[in-house]
Formats: sequence, C-alpha cells, structure tokens
Amino acid sequence: MSTLIGLQCHVCHTAFAAEATYVCDQCFGPLEPVYDYDKARATFTRENIASRPRNLWRYRELLPITGEPLTGFGSGFTPLIPAPRLAARLGVRELYVKDDGVNHPTLSYKDRVVSVAATRAVELGFTVFGCASTGNLGNSVAAHASRLGLRCFVFIPDDLEPYKVLGSAIYHPTLLAVRGNYDDVNRLCTQVADKHGWGFANINLRSYYAEGAKTMGFEIVEQLGWRFPKHVVSPVAGGTLLPRIFRGFRELHQLGLGEGDLPKMYGAQAAGSAPVIRALHQGIDYPDPVKPDTIAKSIAIGNPADGFQVIEVLKESGGWGEMVTDEEILDGINLLAETEGIFTEPAGGTTIAVTRKLIEQERIPRNESIVMCITGNGYKTADIMTGRVTRAIPISRSLEDVDAYLAGTLAGVGGEQA
Ligand SMILES: *Cc1c(COP(=O)(O)O)cnc(C)c1O
Ligand SMILES: [Zn+2]
Repeated sequence: MSTLIGLQCHVCHTAFAAEATYVCDQCFGPLEPVYDYDKARATFTRENIASRPRNLWRYRELLPITGEPLTGFGSGFTPLIPAPRLAARLGVRELYVKDDGVNHPTLSYKDRVVSVAATRAVELGFTVFGCASTGNLGNSVAAHASRLGLRCFVFIPDDLEPYKVLGSAIYHPTLLAVRGNYDDVNRLCTQVADKHGWGFANINLRSYYAEGAKTMGFEIVEQLGWRFPKHVVSPVAGGTLLPRIFRGFRELHQLGLGEGDLPKMYGAQAAGSAPVIRALHQGIDYPDPVKPDTIAKSIAIGNPADGFQVIEVLKESGGWGEMVTDEEILDGINLLAETEGIFTEPAGGTTIAVTRKLIEQERIPRNESIVMCITGNGYKTADIMTGRVTRAIPISRSLEDVDAYLAGTLAGVGGEQA
C-alpha cells in the first residue's frame, strides 16, 4: 500500500512524477514527495505504529516508496536518552540526547536517509548507487549497496579522517578521493550522475533521501510519548536533516498525533564552515558560500544545497542558530562523554557546544524540554581527541604499585589524580 502521489517543487509547487528528478525545471527549487494524507491517516495511527518493528519503516505510510522496503531493517529507532547529568551541568531542567551515533549499520544519521534512497533506487531501476560524501554518507551508501548487491561509487574529498575512509572501503565500493573539498566533489558528482545515469543518493535521488531524515522527528515525538519537545538542536551541513525533522513534526501535528505546539528548531554549525548561521545572523535568506576550514569534517559543507530551507525553518519555528570554534567543539565532545557516557564525533560536539551557547544566551529557556540531535559516532574520529583525554598510567603487576599510585608515591607518576 503506497500513499506516494508524486513530487512537487518546494518553492513554486509545480507537480512532477516520482522519478529521479530533483530540481524544478521552472524555478530550480528542490522537489519533495507528496502523499495522500487521507489514505495514510487510516493506518498511520499511534497504536499501529507502536506495534511495528523498531526501525524507520514503522512510519512507511509517509516514506516515498511504492513497494516493500528493501534495506534498513535495523536502521532508525535509535535511543532517546534522558541526560540529567548534562542537564545539571548546563543548568536546564529537561534534556535529551537523540543518539544516531548508534544507528545501524554505520553509526550515523545517514543510515536513515540511505535506507530510503537505496530502496527507491532499486524501485526506479538503478543498478549503480553512489554519493558525494563528507564521510558518513559514503559509509552508509557502501554498506547498503553491499546488502542490495548494487554496484557502488563513493566520491569523497581527499582530506577525510582515516577511519571514515576505511569505513567505506571495507564494503569494497569504487572509492574516489577527489582533490578538492566537498563542494567540488558534489559538483563533479552532479556531472557524473547526468552523464552515466547512475543513482546518487544525495543528488538525483535527493528528494527520496531527504525524506528518510523525517523519521528522526517522528521518533523523538513517539519516544516522548507522542508529545512535542519545546526545543530541538540539530547540526547543519547540506541542510537535509534539520528541515526534515521539522517536516516530520509538522506531519504529526497535521495528523493530530503529537501533543503540544510545534518545537522551536535551532541550527548548529562549526565557525569554520557556517554559511547558514552567518546568513541567519545577517538576516539573509540564501547563504553565501564559504570555504570550509574545521575539524568537523562531516559537516564541512560551504555551499549547502538546502541552506535556505534551514533558514526558513529556523525563522518559522521561532528558533535560532549559533556557531562554535573547533576548540569549543572538542570541549563539547568531552562534556557529553564525561556527563552521559556517550562518545560522539565533531558534529555531535558542535551540537553540544551550540546548545550550551544558546542556553547561556538565554535563547533557549532553562525550564523547558530540549532535545539535542547527536548524529555520528566518536569512534570513527577518535584520533582528534588525542591529548585531550585521560592518559593510561603504566604500572607493574604488583598490588604495591596500585597502592603506591593511590598514595601518590608511584615513581614517575607523581601525585596525578585518579
Ligand atoms: C551528514 C551529517 C550531518 C548533517 O548533514 P545535513 O546535510 O545537514 O543533513 C550531521 N552530522 C553528521 C555526523 C553527518 O554525517
Ligand atoms: Zn519550482
């Protein structure tokens, strides 16, 4: 049972067939799926959804496929974790971490969008599946392509973290490291998709890919007992995730499935790659491109495809956005690990640091519910934390050495704190 009617332009609302078209031929606006909401309403109920498997396909009435899901049976439905110790440190009352750092199978939010894009790619007859990636997307595209037996091409900038590269290579795609930054890679992939007719998750399949991100919004509300939080903080790179979390909220609101008002949305970027936040602060609707320079490589996109949609949602929801330095990002990673036992990558550190900043600025009030979207796993970028973590203290096998250490007299260790 499919409720997918077709695609329509986000800007001028021109209708298109549900094919691998992603840009409006009238105004160059992005295309998004249109559903038959009356048909969806019949089965998209709290009870039905709650009875389904714990993956993103539990929301399938509002996902853009026409047949059965083909991959992603372990993707989505990641934990929404109360964060009381971090809340105490930040001086707020009700704080949650939505942890996509443990998404299956490649440990980032990208497993949501790729599950949908890969299924749709097969439905549309593609046998080659690819992407332009800042790391995590390549990992996910390559993994899901393996599962589906698709030929896979992953294009990345040539300066990514070694384990992000390995995390794609392990699935044996054709992995092309482009001499340039992500924006160069994206431009190249647009040409490749056109010329060779391959399915690129975030280019010609982008309308389907982006819809997968809505499921993070659906899950937050379901996991709060079908209640909207007041404030949601999300990282921003190409601008897929944040507006789609809000689109998910809006659909639930429209269908009467969420208690309360729509949340205020807040965007988080690294100061070294913050075209969207800079535009927001300057009162501009369309971000000017920047040249990225930050340790937060997974969100280092200088010319975000959906940047204007992020600004639209930040304004419409009554939220805001901030940027933080690399130093603050590393502190954010440490703070989350130290207080809640969750190790995130720089994108997550950005979200933590920006949340802290927005609370300090009193943009986010201290007595209302806040959800922070943690989108990636720290073990992929562990090397950046070298020098900022507890050092292992070498000791012998003897109990005396432990006692000497505890007494602060172990030779060569001095009075180091346990
Ligand atoms: C891709 C990604 C994002 C957000 O990207 P958008 O393009 O804005 O959807 C955030 N965090 C991580 C870890 C990512 O890999
Ligand atoms: Zn248009």
